[in-house]
This record gives sequence, C-alpha cells and structure tokens, in this order.
Amino acid sequence: MADHTGKSAARRASKRIDTSSIKTTTLLSFVIFALFLVMVLWGLSNFFLSSFYERARSQEVIRTAETLETQFSQNRSSFGAVAMQTAGTNNIYIRIDTVDESLVFDGTREAQDSDAFEVDADRIKAKLASSATGIASETRHDSSDMRARLIYASYLTSGGSDSILCIIAPLYPDPVTVRILRDMLIYISFIVLVVALLLAFALSVRLSAPIEKLTRSATELSKGNHDVYFDGAGFTETKELARALNKASYEMEKTDFYQREIIANVSHDLKTPLTMIRSYAEKIIDITGDNPEKRNADLNVIISETEHLNKLVTDMLSVSNLQSNNIEMHMETFDLVKAAKSVYESFLALASSEGFEIHFHPCKPAYVVGDRTRMTQVMTNFVSNAVKYSGDNKFIDIRLSKSSKKVTFHCIDHGMGIPSEEIGHVWDKYYRTSANHERGIEGTGLGLAIVKGILNLHGARYGVESEEGKGSDFWFEMDTVRKPSAEEAEKKDG
Ligand code: ADP
Repeated sequence: MADHTGKSAARRASKRIDTSSIKTTTLLSFVIFALFLVMVLWGLSNFFLSSFYERARSQEVIRTAETLETQFSQNRSSFGAVAMQTAGTNNIYIRIDTVDESLVFDGTREAQDSDAFEVDADRIKAKLASSATGIASETRHDSSDMRARLIYASYLTSGGSDSILCIIAPLYPDPVTVRILRDMLIYISFIVLVVALLLAFALSVRLSAPIEKLTRSATELSKGNHDVYFDGAGFTETKELARALNKASYEMEKTDFYQREIIANVSHDLKTPLTMIRSYAEKIIDITGDNPEKRNADLNVIISETEHLNKLVTDMLSVSNLQSNNIEMHMETFDLVKAAKSVYESFLALASSEGFEIHFHPCKPAYVVGDRTRMTQVMTNFVSNAVKYSGDNKFIDIRLSKSSKKVTFHCIDHGMGIPSEEIGHVWDKYYRTSANHERGIEGTGLGLAIVKGILNLHGARYGVESEEGKGSDFWFEMDTVRKPSAEEAEKKDG
C-alpha cells in the first residue's frame, strides 16, 4: 500500500516536471542561454580585460606624448601646468630632460617607487640613443607582482636632440575601477538571468496556450462531440493545424452521419424483404399450400424478395472488394457501342410496361479494353438510376459519341436532378440525396460507389452534369483501341 502511494507520488512529481514539454524546454533553453551569456561576460572580464586595457593604454600614452611635444614646442611657459594636469588625469609619470634641467611630473595614483622610475627613464634614454626612429618604448613587468608598465621616450624637437620626453604609465587598471566593474557585472548577470526567466516564461505560455486549447478540443472530439471548434489562434503553424483538424472533424462527422444512415437504410432494406419472405412462407403453410396456383404465386414473391436481398448483399460485397482492391478483372477488347445496345435492350420491356421512352443514339463501333461484364454493370446502373429518379418525365436518352481516340457514353434523364451542393457526394458510398429520401425511393447509395470503383480501375474519366428539377447527364469516357483482327478474335474465343 505504502509502495503504491510512493509510486503515485513519484508519478505526480514527474507529471509536474515534464522535461519534454514546451514550457520546460523553453524555460531551460533560456536559462542555459542566459548562464552562457553571463559566463562569457565573466570570462571576458577576467581573462581579457588586462590585455585589452594594456593595448588601449599604450595607444593613449602615444597620443599624450604627441600632445606634450606640441605643447612644449609651441607654449613653453604653460608647459609645466599642462604636464602636471596631464600626468594627474592620465595617471602617468612624465619626465623632461633638457641640457639644463630635469623636470618630473608624477601623476601616478599609487605611491610608486620613484627610484625605479629613474632607473626605467635612464634605461629608455639609452635605448632612444640607439633608436633610428627617434622613439623608444618597452613594457616592463614587475617581478614581484607581475604588474606591467609602459616606458616611452622621444626627442622634443624644439629642444634639440638633447631634450627628451619620457613617460611611464602603469598598465593595470585602477583597483577601484576594477571593483566598480565587478559590481556592475554582478548587476548585469542578475538582470540577464531575471529577464531570461521572465521572457522564457512569457514565451512558453504563449507557445503552449494554442496547443493546449487544440488538445482540449481534440479530447472533446474523441468523446464523440463533433460540435467542437479547433482554434489555433496565435501562430501560423497552429492556425494551419487547427484548419486541418476542423476539416478532419467535419469529415468524421460526415462519415458518422452516412454510417448511421446506411445502418438505418440497410436494416430497413433487409427487414422489408425478410418480413415479406416470412409472411408469404407462413401463408403457404397455413393457406395456399394445397392450391398449386396460389402457392406458386406466393413462392414467386419469395423468390423475387430473395433476389432483392441477394442484390443488396452483392452490392455491399462489391463496394468492400473495390475498396480493398480485392477484385478480379477479365480484360478483353470489346465494342462498347454493342455492349451499350444490349443494356438498352434489357430496359425495353420495362420501358413499355411502365411508360418510359428510352432512346438509343449509337455511334460507329468503338473498341475499348476492359471488363465487359463490369462495364455493362456501369451502364446498367446509370440507366436504372435514370429510371428511378426521372419522376414524371419518362424520356431517357442513351447517347454514344466517338472522337479520334475516345468514346463517350451519356445517360440523360429529365427527372428531379441533383442539388448543386450535393452533386460532389453522389459517388460516395452510402450517399443518397436528400430529395429521394423524402420521396422514399428505394436504394442503398451503393450503386454509384461501385460504378466509381469500376471506372477508376479502367482509368476512365467520368462525371455528372445535373440541375435540380431539370435532370441529369451521367457520363464516362474511355480510350478506344483498334478493332481486333478476325484472327485475334478467334484466338480469344478458342
Ligand atoms: P441508390 O441506390 O440510392 O440509387 P446510387 O449510388 O446509385 O444509390 O446513387 C446515389 C444517389 O445519387 C441516389 O440516392 C440519388 O440521390 C442520386 N442519383 C443518382 N442518379 C441520379 C439521377 N439520375 N437523378 C437524380 N439523382 C440521382
């Protein structure tokens, strides 16, 4: 028991810190980035500050030397004051050696060993004497604390070659400045970390909000609620995902609707003949069994109802076979016009008994490669639909036309037509237009789905033009081939 509680607590904890969630990932990425930034800042300040400082300071000393040289040659009277100020502001030691005197302006902030400066100045003067450029400089590191200083010397032009300017500049930052810089770095690091955390939090919430919303809607959908709306507001990607999910949800709703419809239709279609069969069988047992004439009439009703049932089940099987590509085709070259004529003739009896006027408009023989039986099934389906849905106008045209390499079959009726918003669905399995539901016309919605499957297997083009209340034109088009020679035809027959 204790173990179970422990386990569930651990599970709860792991759920709380989901390392693969958008929130945690963004948060972690930002924190890692901020830490990296802080480390780079501290690294730079610790390892590169002194070399960077040394370079900048050396350049500054050269510039100061040039200013002092100009000042010395142009305004000697105020030189002392300027040199003193320059030494103070720049934290340097300046020494001027002329023939008569030696002037020292020590502006270095830390108490320096002036003897060491003297030694430095004498050494650089000796170096200047042997320099061809009139300038000498060197960097010295104190052996005790490894602090560096720049020692620089040049001739003062107006003072003749005996007048020498010598500057000594400490090349390490002022400890106070270093301390201030450190403090600033601490503040900057803190600010960077806080800003990174806030940004990461804001971004993760913004990123995960639309996804969480979509997940909630998807959960609702999985419970069978088709009224959910997927809202991916926020990002282009989530909006696209929401659009795709809305479409999928609409399609699921449609499929669900058709499936409910077909179960209702098929149960109805199966129940009616089964009831008939049962009641006629009972009638034979109870009443007409001894009367051969009446019994045969009742048995004929039973046979016709079983045929109806058989057709329904065969249609359902055909659709399922076509869908799973589990169908055997017997391809041959045959004349489509001749096959269409036989379909027309099979409807003639019905035409005369029920008052239909079916017209056949053939074209020249047109040979196609296909499964003759299945193509006959396609044409029969078109014509029987035309009969079923022609309403009071009982004129039907079967028309064939042939162009250079194509033959087209049209079955035209002048019946109820198909509403434009439903026309795209008539090829879907189990689809029946709303109008024929109201009229109670018998059907399963499987015929055109079978037709579509067969025509697709033949690579045929097909379609329907229809206008509500005016009629429909169902058509297909196939490639023609040359007429098989008598020899080929014979071989096939043999
Ligand atoms: P059904 O068994 O319902 O006839 P089909 O797949 O053959 O099934 O047809 C699908 C639906 O297409 C029919 O229910 C009907 O609404 C519509 N339809 C087919 N042919 C026509 C037509 N010639 N005129 C009007 N509607 C048609």
